[in-house]
Amino acid sequence: MTSTCSYELGSLIDAVKPGPLYRAAIEEVAESICPVIENNKVYQKARVFERLLIPDRVIRFRVEWVNDAGGVEVDFGWRIEHTNVLGPYKGGLRFHPEVTEDTLHFLAYEQCFKNALTGQPIGAGKGGSNFDPKGKSDNEVMRFCQAFMRELHRHIGASVDVPAGDIGVGGREIGYLYGQYMKITKRRDGVMTGKPLGLGGLLGRNEATGYGTVTFAEEMLKHAGDSMDGKRVMISGSGNVALYAAELAMEKGGCVVTMSDSGGSVSFSKGMTSEQLEELIEFKEVERGRLKDFKGKGMSYHPEARPWSLVDADVALPCATQLEVEKDDAGALVDRGVKVVAEGANMPCTHQARAVFHKKGILFGPGKAANAGGVATSCFEMHQNASHSAWTKERTLEKLHGVMVDIHEQCIAQAPMVNGVVDYGVGADRGGFVKLADAIVAMGV
Ligand code: NDP
Repeated sequence: MTSTCSYELGSLIDAVKPGPLYRAAIEEVAESICPVIENNKVYQKARVFERLLIPDRVIRFRVEWVNDAGGVEVDFGWRIEHTNVLGPYKGGLRFHPEVTEDTLHFLAYEQCFKNALTGQPIGAGKGGSNFDPKGKSDNEVMRFCQAFMRELHRHIGASVDVPAGDIGVGGREIGYLYGQYMKITKRRDGVMTGKPLGLGGLLGRNEATGYGTVTFAEEMLKHAGDSMDGKRVMISGSGNVALYAAELAMEKGGCVVTMSDSGGSVSFSKGMTSEQLEELIEFKEVERGRLKDFKGKGMSYHPEARPWSLVDADVALPCATQLEVEKDDAGALVDRGVKVVAEGANMPCTHQARAVFHKKGILFGPGKAANAGGVATSCFEMHQNASHSAWTKERTLEKLHGVMVDIHEQCIAQAPMVNGVVDYGVGADRGGFVKLADAIVAMGV
């Protein structure tokens, strides 16, 4: 890969000493954009690739809070402000016990390209904590969020840095975080997105990432002369992205055959019904239940299993977490008949899994493009708050659809063909990179 690039990228990457996740994300991009840099002396002179490797700043802090038993708990908090060259830093907060600085570096880097592709005026960042909301009481989650914001508030601002949700950070957490921000600063300026409606949230934001992923998959199918109608759709995860991907896939005539959580997967012999999906949304979002306890007609539970080899399918939407589709999983998806993969999660497919898809001529939509609907819609929430207005859900979803179609077109415009198939991964990296690079050149040093 980078070894075939005449512009030296490999040693630059080594110099940054990225962790394994960040390295994987950088190398993927380096491979895609090498020809763009090789052919552009201006980008070389301005050292745009190098300048994108190191974030503007990394903020790391201690979060101390009191649990229900009266004990003091101490966790890490981070905010990585990667680049504001295209707009205020923008990207979610993740609360999960496995979060490390490496996780957040990789996510912030991916966010640069994704946000650029949306065409909206947003820069890139990411943050979070190793705090685990799972199994905590509502009051504990609230006290943690308040403690997290006690530090974070001094670093963010409506035109500076606007965080949102991610794994473990949904409407409840955003409500507590934003509530604390309002109390500390006296400002109600929409400094977070994904807010509950009463706090200035946007109708349609909850659905946006999952709906956007399905829209992107549908555009890929359309470009190949097909449609979502009648397709068997495998989905992983049962959180925000997965649940709404399932909703739109079903609305488009698709048949959802799997869902999962970190305990295991469920398969649906004849596809999930709309009643079952409605129950699952309530079960996951309100009752915060585990899939092993979700029972229904035509469903089977598979403990500790990923969905990929469980049933036959046409489309796969990995919507849970990073690196959840490895080489063997990719082989299983191919064996099960999958022809289209669109990433609802960030980097769920490993480099080796992507190589299998390329080799077998599977259409592959990378997360940078396929899940960009969430952040694009967050930007609409910023517009709504800044103009002190109230958008309708129809307006949001129509604009979201337009953004996803446009991202698909950008990918097509930049993508080479590999084995007769559009290489969306390369298309997305190049599309995002050129926008960032032009802005960095324009900014000077
Ligand atoms: P949620 O926390 O709402 O849901 C995450 C889902 O993934 C849960 O079902 C969770 O199961 C499962 N999961 C998490 N970690 C693992 C793991 N290690 N192994 C197996 N399953 C796991 O998060 P979101 O739906 O918001 O995010 C999902 C993905 O989409 C992430 O990669 C995120 O970065 C990406 N994304 C999210 C956006 C958004 O707007 N929310 C925007 C763009 C990308 P359990 O409950 O058991 O942990």
